[in-house]
Amino acid sequence: MSLDSHIESVLWTPDQIAARVSELAAQISADHSPLSEPLVLVGVATGAFLFLADLARSLRLPVTVDFIRAESYGSGTVSNGSPRISSDLKLDVSGRHVVLVEDIVDSGSTIACLIAHLEAKGASSVSVCTFLDKPSRRKVHFKLLSKGKFYRGFECPDYFVVGYGMDFAELYRNLPYVGVLKPEHYK
Ligand code: 5GP
Repeated sequence: MSLDSHIESVLWTPDQIAARVSELAAQISADHSPLSEPLVLVGVATGAFLFLADLARSLRLPVTVDFIRAESYGSGTVSNGSPRISSDLKLDVSGRHVVLVEDIVDSGSTIACLIAHLEAKGASSVSVCTFLDKPSRRKVHFKLLSKGKFYRGFECPDYFVVGYGMDFAELYRNLPYVGVLKPEHYK
């Protein structure tokens, strides 16, 4: 079964994604070197898994990798309110420089919750690297911790998108591009 026929339009192709990920990695490497300790990449599960894998391989820095899970989405396309952390880090981030790696920042409430959580765990700085950003939908204006920076791959129009890690009802994550799902497949 191919899921390509469920896609209305492709917003970013694999080549465009790869080129942008390399640029982001170069920027993060330049901004964080030299570091006395490895940079901590915290992937937000599950949507960031492909982005994190590609980004980590392009970074020219020593890194450690962990994942965190925050839930506020059911199987629909609209957030059901304030997120909660359902699976926490294994690594100790106290005194460490952290980059939160996200698939998409939408209302901002997930990332705000995660920044506060990492701050409470004593991280020295928290940056955010999101593959996509939907600034037109922002409701929560999060503040980055210490000298943390905000990196984003692409500004995303206000569509529900899937692929490159992002799902609808746990499907479509392995599409190598980002596309807009046909409404008949999520209604
Ligand atoms: P926020 O807390 O910023 O409203 O939502 C962030 C989370 O919502 C993302 O990590 C992602 O899981 C989900 N999300 C927001 N917009 C989209 C979208 O267009 N497609 C998919 N698949 N997930 C989305």
